[in-house]
Amino acid sequence: MKLLVTGGAGFIGSNFVHYMLNEHPTYRIVTVDALTYAGNLENLKNVEDDPRHQFVKGDICDRLLVFDLVSDGFDVIVNFAAESHVDRSILDASPFVRTNVLGTQVLLDAVREFGVSKYIQVSTDEVYGSLNGDGYFTEDTPLSPNSPYSASKASADLLVRAAHHTYGIDVNITRCSNNYGPFQFPEKLIPLTISNALENRSIPVYGDGQQVRDWLHVLDHCRAIDQVIHHGRPGEVYNIGGHNERTNLEVVKRILSLLNKPESLIQHVQDRPGHDRRYAIDATKIRRELGWAPQYGFEEGLRQTIQWYLDHQEWLQRVKSKDYMRYYERQYSRR
Ligand code: NAD
Repeated sequence: MKLLVTGGAGFIGSNFVHYMLNEHPTYRIVTVDALTYAGNLENLKNVEDDPRHQFVKGDICDRLLVFDLVSDGFDVIVNFAAESHVDRSILDASPFVRTNVLGTQVLLDAVREFGVSKYIQVSTDEVYGSLNGDGYFTEDTPLSPNSPYSASKASADLLVRAAHHTYGIDVNITRCSNNYGPFQFPEKLIPLTISNALENRSIPVYGDGQQVRDWLHVLDHCRAIDQVIHHGRPGEVYNIGGHNERTNLEVVKRILSLLNKPESLIQHVQDRPGHDRRYAIDATKIRRELGWAPQYGFEEGLRQTIQWYLDHQEWLQRVKSKDYMRYYERQYSRR
């Protein structure tokens, strides 16, 4: 099987490339990534010399490049490429509309043009909006995005749905809860907390910190996408979640306690505008239809993740100093 993975130098995409090449030794993967601030080629260092993997620097909005790539023939496209940080979308939504919406349409056009057998859109539970009481998002929950980020992801989901209904393209949309694990850019809650705590710097917590998120280990997410690629019914949406609800404050406190750092590092800051209160996923459909279930418990997964950041402090420093951005030039000037 030959896969095109977009956004594969980012957090989930790079974990997915490693996961797939380990699980399916005969598969070939081409990764295309624009290497924005969030894309780090160092995340793919382990597969740098692997003949089954090829990296292409490129923008999914670049129609000529995407068509040229896809014309080589692929069985599956998995679209991870996105602007992914809510706070950035609040400051400026335009890159989100460009990559998340237009980029998705370019990929769908290429799928149609060159007859790719399967297209997977990696989406998010944030497209459902906020839960204010009990209950869970199911695949039938109406889309009700609240941030420019989630609105752009919901828009992309609708284009993917339309491509299936209009052209009969075999698509799946996966909507996953918050991921954590190795290689996550330290602007997101868990790596930011670890990183600041290691330097004894204050840890910003939005508002009262009582916002609830459902946490899933990134490798459980990758395994779910693998199942969807192989067994997902055409046109279906699959929710992916860990039934692991925690308030942001609980997560931060647990990390501090695992690192033996004082809670006095916590600094409550003004809440994010329009901050969603609670996300929680009902993943019954993927469990029942595809037999997927998470393998990581949150406590164990969090311990391993903290250990990974402790073992990769140079990676963290290079990301924070933006030095990782020079990695691509260094690597490719050698070839
Ligand atoms: P990330 O920000 O770490 O990675 C995104 C990658 O996309 C980066 O490598 C970046 O360089 C690349 N990219 C951005 N614009 C591009 C463009 N125009 N062309 C090509 N590449 C481009 O994000 P992530 O956390 O790994 O998320 C991956 C996907 O999963 C996103 O679509 C996101 O919406 C979705 N998702 C993330 C989470 C989470 O908790 N992180 C949860 C659910 C869904």
